[in-house]
Amino acid sequence: MNLHEYQAKQLLATRGVQIPKGSVCYDGLEALIAARALGSEKVVLKAQVHTGGRGKAGGVAVVSAKDDIRSKASEIIGRKLVTYQTGPDGKPVSALLVEEFLPIDQEMYLGVVLDRNTGRVTIMASAEGGVEIETLARESPEKIVTVGVDPLRGLTPFQARNLAYRLTQNKVLAQQMTKIATVLYDIFVGFDCSLAEINPLVVSGDRVLALDAKLNLDENGLFRHPELELLRDRSQEDQLELSANKDGLSYIKLTGNIGCIVNGAGLAMATLDLIALHGGSPANFLDVGGGASEQGVADAMNILLDDKRVKAVFINIFGGILRCDVLARGVIRALNERGVALPIVARVEGTNIEEGRELFEKSGLPIDMIPSLDEAAKLVVAKAKSFNKES
Ligand code: GDP
Ligand code: MN
Repeated sequence: MNLHEYQAKQLLATRGVQIPKGSVCYDGLEALIAARALGSEKVVLKAQVHTGGRGKAGGVAVVSAKDDIRSKASEIIGRKLVTYQTGPDGKPVSALLVEEFLPIDQEMYLGVVLDRNTGRVTIMASAEGGVEIETLARESPEKIVTVGVDPLRGLTPFQARNLAYRLTQNKVLAQQMTKIATVLYDIFVGFDCSLAEINPLVVSGDRVLALDAKLNLDENGLFRHPELELLRDRSQEDQLELSANKDGLSYIKLTGNIGCIVNGAGLAMATLDLIALHGGSPANFLDVGGGASEQGVADAMNILLDDKRVKAVFINIFGGILRCDVLARGVIRALNERGVALPIVARVEGTNIEEGRELFEKSGLPIDMIPSLDEAAKLVVAKAKSFNKES
C-alpha cells in the first residue's frame, strides 16, 4: 500500500521534518483559496497520484499567484496522469497539493530501503537528487552514499552524522540532515515500510526541507498499524488486483501477454520462469490456492480475461486438494459465459485427472491438453506469438 505525497509529508512534519507550507485541495476553488492563503508570489500545484515522475508528466506546475489558479488547478484535478511507472492508462489524480514555491539551492536524495543482498535496512543518499534514483545508480553510482543499518543497534547517531557530512560540509545543514535521516529511518521501521524516500530533499537558504516524499508500506505489516488503513486510496490501485484480492486470489499484474492460472505460489513462480525461458512474457501471477471452488476458478479465469493484453492462457494445475474436475468445470463455465476465442494450453495433473480431461474434451473448447510442463510452456509461448500476429 502506498501513501500520497501529502500524507507522507504530514507524517514527516509531525516528527519535526520541515516541509513547504501548503494544503491539499479537491477542486479549483479550494486551490485558489489555498493559494491566496499562502500569500507567496508563486505556488506549486502538485497532482496527488501514486507514481513517481509526475514532474516530467505535467503533474507538477509552478504558477504565479496572479495566474488563473482556479482553472490551472481544474486542469490537473480529475485528469489521468501517465508516467513512466503507470502504464498507458495512467492514474486518476485524486487531489491537488497547493504549496508555496521555494527557491532551491540544491536538490538531494534520501531513501531507506531493504537491501536484499546484505539483508539490512539501508539508507541511500546523494548530494544530487531530483532524478530517479535508478537513473542515478545506473549513470553515476559513485555519487550514492549508502549506510547499512545493524538491525539490533538501529541507525546510530554516528552513522546518521557521517551520512550527513558526506553530503555537505555545512554544519547547520548537516545537523538538519542528520535529524531527517534518523526520522526517515524510524518511520521506515516503525511503519513496516518497503520504501521511504525524500526526493528531492532540498536546501533552501539555511533550511533543509522535504519537497517530495514517498512511503510504501508492506501490506504484510499493515495489521500492526490499523490507523494507516484510513490513508488508503483505492482509486490509485490496480482494479483487477483489487477485485482478485476480494475473491481471495493472489493476483499480481505483470506486463506480458500470457495469462496464467496456477495453484501454489512455488508452482506459479516456476511457471513464470518457464514462460520466460521459452521467450514468452507472463501477464500475471495468479495463485488460485489449494481449496479453490468451481466459482473461485471461474472468477480467476474472468480476471485474467478482463486484462485486454492477454493473448493466450496457460493453465498449470497440480490437483491436490483442488480436484481437476472442479478446475475443469470452473474454467469451462467462465469460457462458455464469455465466448472466448483465445488459445488455451492446459497442463493438468493430479486428483480426478481422468474426469477433468474428459470434461475439457467434451466441452468443445479450443484447449490443448499437454502432459509435459516444459512442452506446454513452449506451446503457449508460440500460441501467444502467432495470435499476436493474427490480431
Ligand atoms: P515527482 O516528479 O513526481 O518526483 O515530483 P516532485 O515533487 O519531486 O517534483 C518534481 C520537481 O519539481 C522537483 O524535483 C523540483 O525540481 C520541482 N519543484 C517542485 N516544487 C518546487 C518548489 O517549491 N520550488 C522549486 N524551485 N521547484 C520545485
Ligand atoms: Mn520526486
